[in-house]
Amino acid sequence: MTEQKHANVALFVPHAGCPHDCCFCNQRTIAGTSKPLSAEDVTAACDEALRTLPADRRAQIAFFGGSFTAIERETMEALLRAAQPFLQSGRFDGIRLSTRPDAVDEERLRLLAHYGVTAIELGAQSMDDCVLKACGRGHTAADTVRAATLIRRYGFSLGLQMMTGLPADTEDGARRTAKALAALRPDTVRIYPTVVLRGTPLEARMREGRYTPPSLDETVALCAELLAYFEQTCGIPVIRLGLHDGEALREEAVAGGYHPALRELCEGQLYVNTALAVLTHMGPPQPDTVYTLRVHPKAVSKMIGQRKRNRQRLAREGYTVRVTADPDVPLWEVRAEKG
Ligand code: SF4
Repeated sequence: MTEQKHANVALFVPHAGCPHDCCFCNQRTIAGTSKPLSAEDVTAACDEALRTLPADRRAQIAFFGGSFTAIERETMEALLRAAQPFLQSGRFDGIRLSTRPDAVDEERLRLLAHYGVTAIELGAQSMDDCVLKACGRGHTAADTVRAATLIRRYGFSLGLQMMTGLPADTEDGARRTAKALAALRPDTVRIYPTVVLRGTPLEARMREGRYTPPSLDETVALCAELLAYFEQTCGIPVIRLGLHDGEALREEAVAGGYHPALRELCEGQLYVNTALAVLTHMGPPQPDTVYTLRVHPKAVSKMIGQRKRNRQRLAREGYTVRVTADPDVPLWEVRAEKG
């Protein structure tokens, strides 16, 4: 059987009328500049995808923006209705969307199932009510548990999103959130380190000295650990790590865990940690000895690290290394030998 490749037709649903006040969100400052998504926009985007998609590719229609099921029902149904002819064409195999945990109930789930929605992602952000309160999220951890359970019961694919570096959160708090989310058995996870955006309440707090964003190094260390926890320990794919890079984000981000290649940095961190553990196990570094690190062919650049940072890190520990590709080495493993 030939594996079919998928693509997403990504449609952003701005939520300018959102009644909530998440401290990291800039919807209020961008309200008025972002046009609401219309049924015509959905048709145009799907038509365009049909023209450009290779014949062997199927696509999913993805409504992003965080609060799809919180928008008024008439608008929500108009957007879903516009997607129907494309689902029926056979070139699209489902709709995915993201929403808030407190905007999920049985009535809305029945409606989403009726319109061919296949995957729902919840912006859980934290499973600590104190953190959720400090962020002004307007929902609780119990809302996430209830919504996730309902989504699974209705047979949708479940995605969960968490954030790190939130006000009132700690690294241990983020680890506890990851554990609580994994216990809900999601099909996918996204991890978003907090980015301080211009004009947000979080920026004001930071300027007043009431919030200190984690450094990039701290963000990478924590997110690498969470990535390993979800993917290697729990077998749950992390389908996104870090906000999508783009001009708008680069202009709006004033501080926080932002890097255009955050996942690459985290994966590199995991590889250097493993290499160090393997090398240390072989004994103290010996001068004038080159150590060969063998990794899966797909992992060579991760082992070397962005701008060779892993090679430099190992050199600082006294190890001169060369990295070679070996298809017999599984992903995430590092084998080392002298010479
Ligand atoms: S729920 Fe929070 S993050 Fe989402 S649009 Fe409203 S204020 Fe922004």
